[in-house]
Amino acid sequence: MTSLPDRPGKVICIGRNYAAHAAELNNPIPDEPLLFIKPGSCVQSLQGMRIPTDRGDVHYETELALWLDEPLDQATPEEAWAAVGGIGLALDLTLRDKQSELKNKGWPWEVAKSFNGACALGPRQALPSDLPIRFTLSLNGNTVQDGDTGLMLFSLPQLLSEMSQHFVLEKGDVILTGTPAGVGVLRVGDALNMTLNGEHYLATAVQ
Ligand code: ZN
Repeated sequence: MTSLPDRPGKVICIGRNYAAHAAELNNPIPDEPLLFIKPGSCVQSLQGMRIPTDRGDVHYETELALWLDEPLDQATPEEAWAAVGGIGLALDLTLRDKQSELKNKGWPWEVAKSFNGACALGPRQALPSDLPIRFTLSLNGNTVQDGDTGLMLFSLPQLLSEMSQHFVLEKGDVILTGTPAGVGVLRVGDALNMTLNGEHYLATAVQ
């Protein structure tokens, strides 16, 4: 696993922030954000990312990542948005079979969501002045995910503010903002072509 030189302390994530994705996994639409955390130790570089092959299906979830340049604690949406310094693409890698097993038991998801390498992070880009932000994933030549932050159930400023009510967010922490519909199995050798606001990123999954 290639770890990043400037690895974040933690990655704070939201599940089910796009209605169409909640529906595809037969999950109800949440009335409050479903938050979870990946430790900084599970962050790897998107390019040359390694995926586990011995723990059932690994799913890709393409997400917009936000970098915090200022700490946040119980911030308003306006204060929270002002702390964002950059954006990037991330794959919230998920051991889906394991997660289903844990959900059935009513157990936490950590081993399915926070295993080593579970957050594949692309390079940081400047924060655009205009919203919404668009991103896509093409897998082996087929577009499978098409994200538009305008379709989020919880807007970016709202989401950051809500996260900061529960957790102190530190400078350098990364926020994953939820995946649009189209998640699926990621296999060794799969070629990924991703776009973020017109920038292209290529990656291949290796063992
Ligand atoms: Zn996710």
